[in-house]
Amino acid sequence: MSYIKEIESLIVLQDIDKEMGELNKRLKQAPQEVESLKSRLQVQETQKEQIEEKLNLLREKDKKLSQEIEEDLAKLKKSKNKLMMVENSKEYHAIMREIDTLEKNNRLKEEEKLTLEEELETQQRLLDALNEELGKISQELEKKSKDLNNIIGKCEKRLKELKVKRDEFAKEISTPILNRYEFIRSRLNNPVIVPVEDSVCTGCHISIPPQIFIELQKGLQILSCPNCQRLIYWKEHFELE
Ligand SMILES: [Zn+2]
Repeated sequence: MSYIKEIESLIVLQDIDKEMGELNKRLKQAPQEVESLKSRLQVQETQKEQIEEKLNLLREKDKKLSQEIEEDLAKLKKSKNKLMMVENSKEYHAIMREIDTLEKNNRLKEEEKLTLEEELETQQRLLDALNEELGKISQELEKKSKDLNNIIGKCEKRLKELKVKRDEFAKEISTPILNRYEFIRSRLNNPVIVPVEDSVCTGCHISIPPQIFIELQKGLQILSCPNCQRLIYWKEHFELE
């Protein structure tokens, strides 16, 4: 197995693993987006139900109040008619007091009705805004659900292709080196194999000891950075090609 070829295969393997990692991440995240939209939708639906319940109560109250006001007005009219037919001042004062009370009551109810109608408007505005938001989320959810199947299909197809390619390139690497590669990969963040530039490891940015750098330049065996343990190669070996 040639040294250069083995390094090249390791670099390809690393690229494949990076892409596979991203695809697996995407596969994991894609359903989460749909799930989070679903739960957002549910929260808003509950909110909608609460507002609708409130609106119904307010409307009932409003209706009842309107009825009462109407009844009071009828009573008031009756009292005023009675006033025309009083026979003595005692009766007159009694009816006047009655009218006074009715009018006072009526004013209070009218005020109450106004406040109620303001609240109705406020709740209706909230409901309208919520409905708009719900529409948007539902649309997004529909789109994301469709996309999800698409994404899963595409990712799985690409992963299969990459797996085949990975096996091919893994064959170009000696077993001990491949094991070292896997060992480092399981313990360190990417990258696993890095170029050395001006005797500095580009993985950890620390200088390689001169003795190891001389060995590296010979290009006879694959070496590790003594500091970060990543597999290293001399950049110039590949720039010359
Ligand atoms: Zn290093």
